[in-house]
Amino acid sequence: MWEQNIRQVVPYVPGEQPKDENKIKLNTNEFPYPPSPKVLQALQDVSLDSLRLYPDPAVVDLRQALADAYQVELEQVFVGVGSDDVIANAFLTFFHSEKPILFPDITYSFYDVWADLFRIPYKTKALDENFHMRKEDYYEENGGIIFPNPNAPTGIGEGLGFIEDILQHNPNSVVIVDEAYVDFGGSSALPLLEKYENLLVVQTFSKSRALAGMRIGYAFGNKKLIGYLNAVKFSFNSYTMNRTSIAAGVACVQDNRYFEEMVQKVITTRERTKKALQELGFSFPDSTSNFIFATHKSVPAEELFEALKQAHIYVRYFKKPRIDNYLRITIGTDAEMDTLLAFLETYLKGR
Ligand code: PMP
Repeated sequence: MWEQNIRQVVPYVPGEQPKDENKIKLNTNEFPYPPSPKVLQALQDVSLDSLRLYPDPAVVDLRQALADAYQVELEQVFVGVGSDDVIANAFLTFFHSEKPILFPDITYSFYDVWADLFRIPYKTKALDENFHMRKEDYYEENGGIIFPNPNAPTGIGEGLGFIEDILQHNPNSVVIVDEAYVDFGGSSALPLLEKYENLLVVQTFSKSRALAGMRIGYAFGNKKLIGYLNAVKFSFNSYTMNRTSIAAGVACVQDNRYFEEMVQKVITTRERTKKALQELGFSFPDSTSNFIFATHKSVPAEELFEALKQAHIYVRYFKKPRIDNYLRITIGTDAEMDTLLAFLETYLKGR
C-alpha cells in the first residue's frame, strides 16, 4: 500500500481565472491597470541570449532596488516567487516549535494549508463580531504568529499600536505581518523593524504594483532573521526568480511616481464604490484594501454571486462559517465598477 507512505494534503484553492472573453474580473484582487510602461521596456531589454544563463541566485538587483525604495539595507531584504513563496519559506524557517502558531479564524486561507503541509501545529483565534482581531488573543504562549494587515477577506486594517502591542507580548516567537494590501491605505509595520528583531514584514508586487503575472514577493526583517530565511531558501531551490521577473521588478520599483498615482486612482474608485454599494443596501467593514467585503440587507450573497457570474462579472464567495453571506469584490477600473453597480441596481430592483 504505497499510499500509506506519501504526504497527503488538502491544497489551497486559488480564485478562478475564467477564460470568458467578456468577463469583468473582480475575484482575485489583481490591480485593474497595467504596470508602469517602464516594465515593458525592461522586458524588451532582456536579451534572448541572456536566458541561456542562470539568474543571479542572490537577486541583488531587485533586492537593492527594494532596499533603496524602502530605506533599509540590502541584507534586510528577501525576495521570492510571489509572497506565497516568501510566506511558505517563512513558515518553514520560523515556525519550528512544538507550540501552536496563531492566526485569525477568518483570514487568508493559505495559512492553515502551509501549517498542515509542514506539520506545524496551529490554533485559530476568532475575530470579534465586527471582524476585528483581538490583540489579547495573541498573548498566550505560541510557536509564532501570522496575520495579514489589512486582513483578507475582510479588508480591515489595524493600526501600528495594535501590531506593536502584539510584538511586545511576543518576544519569543517570530511575528509575520502579511502586508499584501497595505499600499491601499493600511499602516505598514516597517517602522517597527528597528525595534523588534522578531518581526517579518511581507509584501508583494501582485496587488498594488500590478504584476501578479510576474510572481514577485518580498520581505523585510533584521539581518539575522533574513539570514535564517535565506539558509532555508537555499536549502530548497537556489534559482527561484527568473531573469524576466527580476528585470520587471526592478523597473517597477524604480517608477514610484506611476505607482503612487495609480494606487491613488484605485483608492478613489474604492471610496466611490463604497457609497454606491451602501445606497444599494449593502454594508461592509471599512476597507483599507483593494476590495470590499460586502453583505446585502435582504439578498443572500450566494444568489448574488451566481447572478453576477451569469452576467460575466466574477467576484469571490467563500462558503464558510460566519462569512457565507458576504461577497469579496475587488476594486476594478471605474468602468468595471459602473457595470457592476448598474447590474446590481437592476437585479435588486427586479427581484
Ligand atoms: N497574502 C494575502 C493576504 C493574499 O491575499 C495573497 C493573494 N492571494 C497573498 C498573500 C499572495 O499573493 P502573491 O503570492 O501573489 O504575492
